[in-house]
Amino acid sequence: MATASPDAVVVGTGPNGLAAALTMARAGLSVEMFEGASSPGGGCRTKEITLPGFHHDICSTIQSMVSLSPFFRAFPDIADAVTMRVPEIALAHPLDDGRVASIAGSVDQTAQGLGEDASTYRALMGPLVDDAPRLAAAVLAPLRAPPRNVFTMARFALNGVPSAAHLSKRFSTPEAKGLVAGICSHAMLPLTSPVTAAFGLFLGVTAHVGGWPVVEGGSARLVDALVDALAVEGVTIHLERPVHSLADVPVARATLFDTSAQGIVDIAGERLTSRYKSSVAHFARGPGVFKVDWALSGPVPWTVEACRSAGTVHVGGRFQEVAASEEDVARGRHCERPYCIVVQASVADATRAPSGQHTLWAYCHVPNGSDVDMTQRIEAQIERFAPGFRDLILARVSTSTAEGEDHNPNYVGGDITGGTGTLRQTVFRPALRWNEYRTGTSGLYLCSSSTPPGGGVHGMCGWLAARTVLSDLKVRRGHS
Ligand SMILES: Cc1cc2nc3c(=O)[nH]c(=O)nc-3n(C[C@H](O)[C@H](O)[C@H](O)COP(=O)(O)OP(=O)(O)OC[C@H]3O[C@@H](n4cnc5c(N)ncnc54)[C@H](O)[C@@H]3O)c2cc1C
Repeated sequence: MATASPDAVVVGTGPNGLAAALTMARAGLSVEMFEGASSPGGGCRTKEITLPGFHHDICSTIQSMVSLSPFFRAFPDIADAVTMRVPEIALAHPLDDGRVASIAGSVDQTAQGLGEDASTYRALMGPLVDDAPRLAAAVLAPLRAPPRNVFTMARFALNGVPSAAHLSKRFSTPEAKGLVAGICSHAMLPLTSPVTAAFGLFLGVTAHVGGWPVVEGGSARLVDALVDALAVEGVTIHLERPVHSLADVPVARATLFDTSAQGIVDIAGERLTSRYKSSVAHFARGPGVFKVDWALSGPVPWTVEACRSAGTVHVGGRFQEVAASEEDVARGRHCERPYCIVVQASVADATRAPSGQHTLWAYCHVPNGSDVDMTQRIEAQIERFAPGFRDLILARVSTSTAEGEDHNPNYVGGDITGGTGTLRQTVFRPALRWNEYRTGTSGLYLCSSSTPPGGGVHGMCGWLAARTVLSDLKVRRGHS
């Protein structure tokens, strides 16, 4: 047990925990962090898990939110400390007949590749991309915060609150409809669900603005930048210190949990109100993911040229097929031909693998807690669009939902989003409160992706929770 009495304690060193700690430390608070794993970073770790010289991001690779996140904009020294590598094409979505839709560069450039859907794409995305920073500030904030850009938000809501299925009807070509299906499936919900379109639209905006970059050397370098900045502020990070109860951490004026919603209840349940605990008990988990990392002897031999220089390839074919795959997951089934998100970091960052060789990862969605090995089905899907892929495999590591949770207790049953992102759970995350970072118990705060705005490497949950703490402790925010 630690003995000192810092102003603030943060349990967990994911991007949100680190963002919270930095915000408070730069406002003058003394902060200590406690992390169960042997390295900091949560969903932002990089390791040689297949073969020496192959650097794999265990979780996040595509740092799509960094350039637009108000947290990273408030602390520009963090992103400045890493080198972002932008793939030539942010995202490609191939179809079996050789057609492809891809997002690359400006809205106009992308629209030109969409044939008869070009003007629809321009009209839909142009105004959102033009107002991207204010849109991001509104989307990456709790819904109670009034937007400063009413017209853009109204346009976003009009197109985003309905489902992806609804949005796809605006397009006529199978490749544009496929693009909508793939990008909206990041919501991990059936494509007929409300707000699935909003996920796709916002991710599309980030693709145009930042190009879906990867961090040179791996996502862990972003964590290194945060950890270095925390060291300058005198913040201590205790590693291999899993927190099971409040007795495991020093008493502090504020204790912030970068844990799952259930995690804070398990640790501090005795101090939490029954109302808060009841809300958490009703807070639904999202589906799980089954991930495979590969070391490859060469680049993936995609049939379609555009996929070869894309950082991300959405594999799953036409809209109906992707939609059926996501529907299967929601119904507790495992699709034979699952929709897969495939990420090829080494296309943009040559440091990830020995010369001429490549790292690759892909995951598909599976029911929460699934114990089905999806390796063969994922490889078959990639082989479908890149014949000869399997011949390049030097080594692979598959990660089931249980293994994902072993790596990071926040990924309960393989849920990487901190709780499903339905409309209701986007608004009440994880409980119905005016400020979702407060738990209703003085001094205890939740700051993980189980609070608004949810999953992704944006640091916003941590930043907003820390700002709540500073306000509660009546600390002038200064540089925070
Ligand atoms: C396979 C995969 C791919 C992804 N790809 C992307 C991507 O490309 N782009 C993107 O933006 N996002 C991606 N994500 C999502 C992103 O990684 C997460 O949304 C993000 O990391 C959440 O940050 P967080 O700080 O809330 O929690 P986490 O990153 O999950 O960190 C939580 C930390 O708290 C620690 N912890 C939890 N409980 C305790 C405890 N009781 N005691 C001590 N320590 C504890 C954990 O060990 C962990 O280090 C991906 C996730 C996965 C799994």
